[in-house]
Amino acid sequence: MVIGGVAGGASAAARLRRLDEQAEIVVFERSGHVSFANCGLPYHLSGAIAERRSLLLQSPESLRANFDLDVRVLHEVTGIDRDARVVTGTDLGAGEPFRLHYDALVLSPGASPIRPPIPGAERGLTLRDVEDLDRIGAAVAGARSAVIIGGGFVGLEVAENLCERGLAVTIVELAPQVLAPIDAEMVTYVHDELVAHGIVLRLGHSVTELTATAAVLDDGESIDADLVIFAIGVRPETTLARTAGLEIGPRGGIVVDDTLRTSDPHIWAVGDATEKADSVLGGAALVPLANLANRQGRRAADAIAGRPQPFAAAHSAAVVRVFGLTVAVTGANERRLRAAGHDVLALHTHANSHAGYFPGAETMHLKLLVDPADGRILGAQGVGRDGIDKRIDVISTAMSGGITAPQLADLELAYAPMYGSAKDPVNMLGYLAENVLLDGEPVVAWHELADRQRDGWLVVDVRQPSEVADGAIDGAVNIPLDQLRGRLGELAGRRVVCACAVGQRGHAATRLLRQHGIEAANLIGGYRTLEAATRATVPAVAVTA
Ligand code: FAD
Repeated sequence: MVIGGVAGGASAAARLRRLDEQAEIVVFERSGHVSFANCGLPYHLSGAIAERRSLLLQSPESLRANFDLDVRVLHEVTGIDRDARVVTGTDLGAGEPFRLHYDALVLSPGASPIRPPIPGAERGLTLRDVEDLDRIGAAVAGARSAVIIGGGFVGLEVAENLCERGLAVTIVELAPQVLAPIDAEMVTYVHDELVAHGIVLRLGHSVTELTATAAVLDDGESIDADLVIFAIGVRPETTLARTAGLEIGPRGGIVVDDTLRTSDPHIWAVGDATEKADSVLGGAALVPLANLANRQGRRAADAIAGRPQPFAAAHSAAVVRVFGLTVAVTGANERRLRAAGHDVLALHTHANSHAGYFPGAETMHLKLLVDPADGRILGAQGVGRDGIDKRIDVISTAMSGGITAPQLADLELAYAPMYGSAKDPVNMLGYLAENVLLDGEPVVAWHELADRQRDGWLVVDVRQPSEVADGAIDGAVNIPLDQLRGRLGELAGRRVVCACAVGQRGHAATRLLRQHGIEAANLIGGYRTLEAATRATVPAVAVTA
């Protein structure tokens, strides 16, 4: 028996059938639809997914025909008698109660959107299933303005699609940035993209009240809102598990072992409702993502069929499109690592998505987080218009395989000029790690620069004067790289931070100076990282269109 017939639940049921043709498999699903495409829902709001039926991947009839599954939609399970191994619930269509015995039970009830307890909250909508989509679709008709509360993945997707639909969209986010998994200097590009598309950002603010026509912020500002969407996160659906006395973990999700078994030997749980092991920081994590739910569904079925395979700890790899940008992340970010007391080396590149001489190359901003003690990859983030998903997936795969940051230098990656560079940006991150960790090149992070300057270090900007004219580093002197050898005398006895646009010429300059006996260090990621970081770290910045 499976409770919840979408990502994890449908995967478990279909896999179990493939493993066991004799099993009787029943799936209970509370909503009116099974196996629908949650991740595609926002894109029907703009018409990017034109047909609503495209979101309905299977039906009870097709699952019966293809997999001999007994799928019962509009059936809510409300109780589990673990001793008798019986579930009870309500057939919402007929209004009738039901009871059914199980030998093995899989819980995949997902997570429900959080609604803030503010006056007028009943007017706010959430997006989780097809019924929610229909409600939002009805509200959008005739609406001119929308306020999205929460700037996470779902909030940004809904914002983009309502904007494409022609609504005036404001995102209100309590944190000083959208997309919490991304560090501040990386998210600047996302803020720029949202603002460039006319979305108004109210960062560092909360909504305190919804009136009939507006959302009122904590500073008293009233924003027109024909439509309000709550996208402030999700909470694991654990009511059923709690009532049944299953163990709930410190993060509020169902506790499972590495074969997805709960504290009851006859019950497995998968997906958003469960706690996962955090591959980087250790301990339990809530990771409400579809890839994990689907993979867990498969593994739970394996375990029930008597062929358990351990489920690996989660890197929380995720990707989202924000208009023309792709933002992807895996592992932990620098903020979380430092908060956990981790020593971390943060490396930045701003490489071309493919060979610069082939038309259409775009800058891709990549950040790699590394344990300086052993080179272990702790996380990575990417923002750009092309090729970001591939690079973050390569790094995520490297993390699974235990490949260290310097070893990225030796990855053999397919290349042709329209797809990448002969030195792929992932190889380049490996070179950076190798330079620092194996060759011992001193580096300075953007947030350490001011302290270095206060300590008397001189910043030498080795870009060309024309580049410096477009944006200078405070207190830096400009000695272009091609003049550096001839002007070493100007730096005698100085300690020097070498800076350039992205860190590459700074690396060459640092090597050059050190071989001439001048103490030098390279500014990681160069002026581009510094500039993005400086704009991002303004506290509670309110960026307006
Ligand atoms: P779900 O897929 O939510 O399924 C749980 C089902 O259980 C629900 O349909 C619910 O009705 C049913 N249920 C709950 N309780 C009961 C009960 N007592 N009785 C009967 N039925 C019950 N993830 C990504 O990785 N990438 C994305 O791009 C992405 N985009 C998303 C966009 C949106 C708008 C949303 C809402 C989610 C998105 N996700 C995305 C997250 C992804 O959809 C979830 O991680 C995934 O669906 C979780 O699978 P699950 O099986 O745990 O829960």
